[in-house]
Amino acid sequence: MNKKPYIVANWKMSLDKISLERFFDNMDWENIDLEKINVILCPSHVFMCKTRNQIGDKTIGLGAQNIFWEASGAFTGEVSAKQLVDVGCQYVIVGHSERREIFHETNEVVNLKIVQALKNKLKPIICIGENFEEKENGLTKKVIEEKLNEGLQDISPADMRNVLIAYEPIWAISTNKDNTGQADSPESAQVVHKYIRKLISGLYDVRIAENLPILYGGSINPENIEGFSKMDDIDGVLIGGASKEASSFQKIINTYL
Ligand code: PEP
Repeated sequence: MNKKPYIVANWKMSLDKISLERFFDNMDWENIDLEKINVILCPSHVFMCKTRNQIGDKTIGLGAQNIFWEASGAFTGEVSAKQLVDVGCQYVIVGHSERREIFHETNEVVNLKIVQALKNKLKPIICIGENFEEKENGLTKKVIEEKLNEGLQDISPADMRNVLIAYEPIWAISTNKDNTGQADSPESAQVVHKYIRKLISGLYDVRIAENLPILYGGSINPENIEGFSKMDDIDGVLIGGASKEASSFQKIINTYL
């Protein structure tokens, strides 16, 4: 992997005011060379401003975990891309498997959200991955292809410069249905990442495919990060559980420094 790696924290609905402050207090930011890595923190919407204030002038990215697909209007409880940009957000996770499974988001919905994000200069981190049954039935490539084709419908080559993909095998996510998630092996994740790059090359071109950051997500922790960090087509990681505590997040970051 030759690109500047991405290390993205997906805090889900986990951190509250106190634990978020503790996270920042316990990170050893002084010893993290932010020239070498892209760190992106994705708090709940309600803590977007607080996280931005904690980030201060450090070159750390701020991401949301979701947006609504319409620009504005009477959509009680939803948050627009523009509102997120207004509070300093630069990235948004789209199509996370929890949104797909619990909130029934289809590829079409994911596509509408990607379009809305890009229109507002928010960089979408698009999650794609297969569930356990699909993996067992040898459908990983088919599922990945469908999610990419439909999710990227009408996304222009120019817009692809602002897109990130996260390969997240659903069975590997630590908080999957039975909390049985275990990371994929770096080698088998590498095969899927390479396949994603090939698909993007077909949908767009080789240059776009080569420049596209493709992150891995699913039970990454300080013990297994090293293997993933060495893979050619794995340009970083999206981390849930191990991003909540400064100690484990810091160790993961240190692997890349
Ligand atoms: C996630 O849900 O995006 C994720 C990668 O979670 P975890 O690291 O806990 O498996």
